[in-house]
Amino acid sequence: MSLYFGSLYWPNSLAQPVSYPELRGDINARVVVIGGGMSGVLCGYVLAAGGIETALIEQQRIASGSTSANTGLLQYSNDTMLSEFARTLGEADAVRFYRACKHAAEKIADIAEKLPRDVGFKRRSSLYYASKDGDADALREEYETLSRNGFDAEWWDEERIAAHFPFRKAAAIVTRGDAELNPYLFVHALAEEAVKQGLRPYEHTKMLDVRPAERGYVVRTDNGSIEAEHVVYAVGYAPETAGGRWVKARLKRSYAIVTNPLPSLAEWNERMLIWETDRPYLYARTTGDNRIIIGGLDENVRQPLLSEQELRAHSMRLLSELRQLFPGYSPEIRWEWNATFGESADGLPWLGEDPERPGQHYCLGYGGNGTIYSCMGAEIIRDRILGLPNPIGRIVRPDRAVAASV
Ligand SMILES: Cc1cc2nc3c(=O)[nH]c(=O)nc-3n(C[C@H](O)[C@H](O)[C@H](O)COP(=O)(O)OP(=O)(O)OC[C@H]3O[C@@H](n4cnc5c(N)ncnc54)[C@H](O)[C@@H]3O)c2cc1C
Repeated sequence: MSLYFGSLYWPNSLAQPVSYPELRGDINARVVVIGGGMSGVLCGYVLAAGGIETALIEQQRIASGSTSANTGLLQYSNDTMLSEFARTLGEADAVRFYRACKHAAEKIADIAEKLPRDVGFKRRSSLYYASKDGDADALREEYETLSRNGFDAEWWDEERIAAHFPFRKAAAIVTRGDAELNPYLFVHALAEEAVKQGLRPYEHTKMLDVRPAERGYVVRTDNGSIEAEHVVYAVGYAPETAGGRWVKARLKRSYAIVTNPLPSLAEWNERMLIWETDRPYLYARTTGDNRIIIGGLDENVRQPLLSEQELRAHSMRLLSELRQLFPGYSPEIRWEWNATFGESADGLPWLGEDPERPGQHYCLGYGGNGTIYSCMGAEIIRDRILGLPNPIGRIVRPDRAVAASV
C-alpha cells in the first residue's frame, strides 16, 4: 500500500542520494532496526553513536516512506496541549513529557547543525493562534501552564498579532525553541554520518518475519537473515508490520502544498511556524527559497486519495486558506500531495520495549511532531539496551492503558 500520492517536494532537493547495498546472506548484529525513515535512521545514528553494533534494513530506499511527505516542522508543543496532558497524565508527568520533547528538539538541532551539509535547518519560533474567538480561553490556560512550568511562551493579543501579521485572531501563544528542516536531506545526511559511526544500512531488503533464536531473534528478509539480540520496529505507518498487540494507531490522510517562490515574505513575521487550535489544524511554514508550505485538512481515511482531480480540489482549499491569512501574496501551487498519517488516542507515541517480547522495541512516533517523538524513541531504546535509566520511558511505554480507537 502506498503511503502517499501526488508530487512530493523534498526528493527534488537531492539529485543522487547515496545508495546502500542489499543484504546478501546471513549476518549478525547486536541490534537490527527495521525501517529506514526518520525514526529508523535516528535510531541507527543514536545507537551507533552509543557504541552499539547496529544494522538497519529498509525495504525500499532510505527516506522513501512518510519521511519524504513530512513538511519538516519541529515543534516541542504537541497536537495535545500541555494543559490537556496535565488532565490525563497529571501535571508532573505532562511537564516531564513536554520537557523531553524540548530536549529532543534541542538534540535534533545539535545533530543538524553539526552535519557536514546544509539540510535546511533553521531555528524558528511558533505562532499558535486561536482559530475561533471561543478558543482563546483554552489557549490562555495553555499559556499559563507553559509559563508556570518554565517554558518560553508569550501571550499575544489581537492587536499584537495584527501588528506583526496581515491577519487578525483573538489571541495566540508564541513559543521559542522550535525549528524547520528538510526531512529528506536530513535523513540522508544522518544516514551517512551514522555509517561513519559504524551503522550498516541495507536498502531493498524487506523484513519477512522475526523468530526467536539462540542469541535473541532472527530477522528473516527477502535477501538473507540477521541474528540480533534486539529488534527495533521503525516501520512508520505500517504498525501491523511490527506485530505485538499494544499498538493501536489511528491512521488518517493529510494534505500539503508547496507554492512558487514569492518575491518577498516580509509580512511573515520572523518566518514563524504557524498553526492553530482547530482540529484538524492548518499549519504553515516558509522555505529557504521563499516558498510557503501549508498543510492540514486531515480525513479519517488511511489510504491516500489517488485522483489528481480530487487532490487538486483539496490543494485549492489549502491555497484559499493561505490567501485568507496573507491576502497580499499571490501564491501558486507547485507541489501537492496527500499522505497517510498516524495518531494515538492519547496523543503519546509508542516508544520502547514490548513487555511481552523482551528485546523487541517500537520506535513509532505517531503524531504531528513525529520527528521529535522519533528522536525521543531513539534515546529511550539506546538507554534500555545500555541498561541506563530513562525517566520518559514509562510515560510512552507501549503497554500503557490507551483506548483502542481504530
Ligand atoms: C503530510 C504529512 C506532513 C507531516 N509533517 C510533519 C512535520 O511537519 N513534522 C513532523 O515532525 N512530522 C510530520 N509528519 C509525520 C512524519 O512524516 C512522521 O513522523 C515521520 O516521517 C515518520 O518517519 P518514520 O521513519 O516513522 O516512517 P517512514 O518514513 O514511513 O519510514 C518507515 C520505513 O519503514 C520501511 N518499512 C516498513 N515495513 C518494512 C519491512 N517489513 N521491511 C523493511 N522496511 C520496512 C518503509 O519502507 C519506510 O521507509 C508528517 C506526516 C505527513 C503525512
